[in-house]
Amino acid sequence: MDITSAINQLKQKASATSDDSALESIYNDLATLLHTKQILGSSKQATVPSARTASAEFDRVESPLSPVEDGCFSGALDGLSIEVRVDSKRGIVSADIRNNRAYVGSIRTDPGATYSPVPFLEALGIIGEDRNYNTTKGTITLLPGNSTKDFTFVIQLKKPLMGILTRDPVRIPVNFKTKFFREINIKYIVEKGLRFTTDSFAFRQRQINLQKVFEIYGINLNISIKDSIEASSEWDTSAGFSALYETFTTHSNIPVDNESWDVCIMHLGSSNEAGLLGVMFDDRGRRALAVFAGEIEDRFRANSIMSLEAKILQTTAHELGHALNLAHRFERGVGRADSLSCMNYSWRFSQGGDSAYWQGFDFVFDGDEISFLLHAPLYKIIFGGLEFHQVNYWVGNGVYSPYLKETLDNRFTLDLHSPAQTFPFGEPVILEASLAASQPQPVPAFMLDIKAGFLEILVTKVPAVSPFAEATPEVTTKFKPLMRKCYDSFEHHETAKRQIETVTISTNSPLKQNINVHFGSSGFAFAQPGTYRITAILSTYQDQRLEQEYIVKSNIVTIRIEYPHNSTEEEDVNVLMRPDVGRFIATGGNSHLEQAEVTKLEDSVLRRKNLVGVNRALLLSSVNNPRTSLAKRDDLIHNFKSACHRLDETTRKATVKFISETFGVKEK
Ligand SMILES: [Zn+2]
Repeated sequence: MDITSAINQLKQKASATSDDSALESIYNDLATLLHTKQILGSSKQATVPSARTASAEFDRVESPLSPVEDGCFSGALDGLSIEVRVDSKRGIVSADIRNNRAYVGSIRTDPGATYSPVPFLEALGIIGEDRNYNTTKGTITLLPGNSTKDFTFVIQLKKPLMGILTRDPVRIPVNFKTKFFREINIKYIVEKGLRFTTDSFAFRQRQINLQKVFEIYGINLNISIKDSIEASSEWDTSAGFSALYETFTTHSNIPVDNESWDVCIMHLGSSNEAGLLGVMFDDRGRRALAVFAGEIEDRFRANSIMSLEAKILQTTAHELGHALNLAHRFERGVGRADSLSCMNYSWRFSQGGDSAYWQGFDFVFDGDEISFLLHAPLYKIIFGGLEFHQVNYWVGNGVYSPYLKETLDNRFTLDLHSPAQTFPFGEPVILEASLAASQPQPVPAFMLDIKAGFLEILVTKVPAVSPFAEATPEVTTKFKPLMRKCYDSFEHHETAKRQIETVTISTNSPLKQNINVHFGSSGFAFAQPGTYRITAILSTYQDQRLEQEYIVKSNIVTIRIEYPHNSTEEEDVNVLMRPDVGRFIATGGNSHLEQAEVTKLEDSVLRRKNLVGVNRALLLSSVNNPRTSLAKRDDLIHNFKSACHRLDETTRKATVKFISETFGVKEK
């Protein structure tokens, strides 16, 4: 039997099987066959792509051309408008539906199924989803129009989305709009004195720049240089990232209260942390990125495999990927450390580390990432939509997702400590994490920075027990900080001017870090009074080739958020629990809070005599940041002035030292 017949036989077998494990094995055979057949292209690829993606690829190669062009089509009828993306390359048709311009929901052809251009008159199975997470099944039919640039889109849903489109089929004629599936507007802010340039450069026998990285996938980037800003010595990105936040909010002019395709990329020098290459702000929808081009220049200038331009471009594409809601490939849950995607860390590449990654690197994204970017429901991708890390696009969608066994890493112990058992409602909750090792072990200091993504904080609201009410289920949420940080490896770049801070930890000398879980991209972590359980999980890594995920779990910390005791406390809560105030505190102060509100915040801090020291310092430092003269106003402030000052500076060392002083933490 030839290989094509073997493939067809397997595909028939697959369609007749409903057992998941049998299907998986058939798909794996299919993937191997397709790989053998070299349909999947270059040997550069480190892994055999998903069987189902492979199947789509096979269909594309073996089938005649699509009767309509690939790209975006749009049409409207009776207030209902639709934007359809025809992607024959991936075998997917997807669409966003609006009613009188308001977003209703999105649909896409069934995950796993592939749209083949031949059954043009045949109904294709779809799934639909609106932003209230209502989902429905249904069908679409693409009836031929007069040319390759128009057709009639017939949609029929089993259940309505946001009350729209029920059982009756709706027919909307659509016309070709653009060959791009997505169009993104980028505003660059560039710090003066950098060698950074947006020009394209030669890479693997072609010219490449940021537009070209995304264009190949049908994503168009409209780039404008918005502003150049004066050089800064260092950008503070630790506890208070005021300056960075301020630069983004004042220079980008991106409205943050609507969903839009506008994002700001800041190319800056260096941050206060060696090895920090990029950050993504997850404030109201992933709207801003910073790439520390100066830091990259310092660390990668002597790299023989990878040019400096390529590393800066990879970091920019990586951060833009985060802004579009893409996670790290290596992280727990995704389990794709074997990927050559821009979203992997070279130093976490499981198939040979840094040098192997760069040797195979070609500015690509993985299939599941691209399917997500092009065809996921609009609100999950667009800036201002769902906050970061809310969508597990790497599972389901017919894409192969490995199951990595989670193993407790018994080299480490992780201790979570709360400075108080009860917190007045509205007061920031700041915990201390402490990582020790049974044998002396160097770890990067960023390990415990919640913004780095290795440490996860899980918060569970314990339901109130009442004999009069039915028990409500426990809900556990992962705290999502306002900023994500992306680091270089701490083991390389001996030639760099600044080395990444590492700490050799042992049983008696742990790495400590304060964890601010007050306000994140989903709002307040403790939005109601009551009892909460908090746990920390740290992803460590040993040898990724072992195909196991190594984690350390902390003890469980239980805290209680108290109800306000009187009307004054209630007034304080009304101030402290405002999202703009939460954001103000989380960023360590900014100029976007009305002066009157800053005064109210300050008054409420002053009234709270029993504030845990670090909380007072945090609150006061945010108040003092835009109004430094206030430090003289009250003795209470004066007492904490030096602490605030240190918090303003917030080098990690100062913070760690500060917290152990303030908490009076005793070594175990
Ligand atoms: Zn990253």
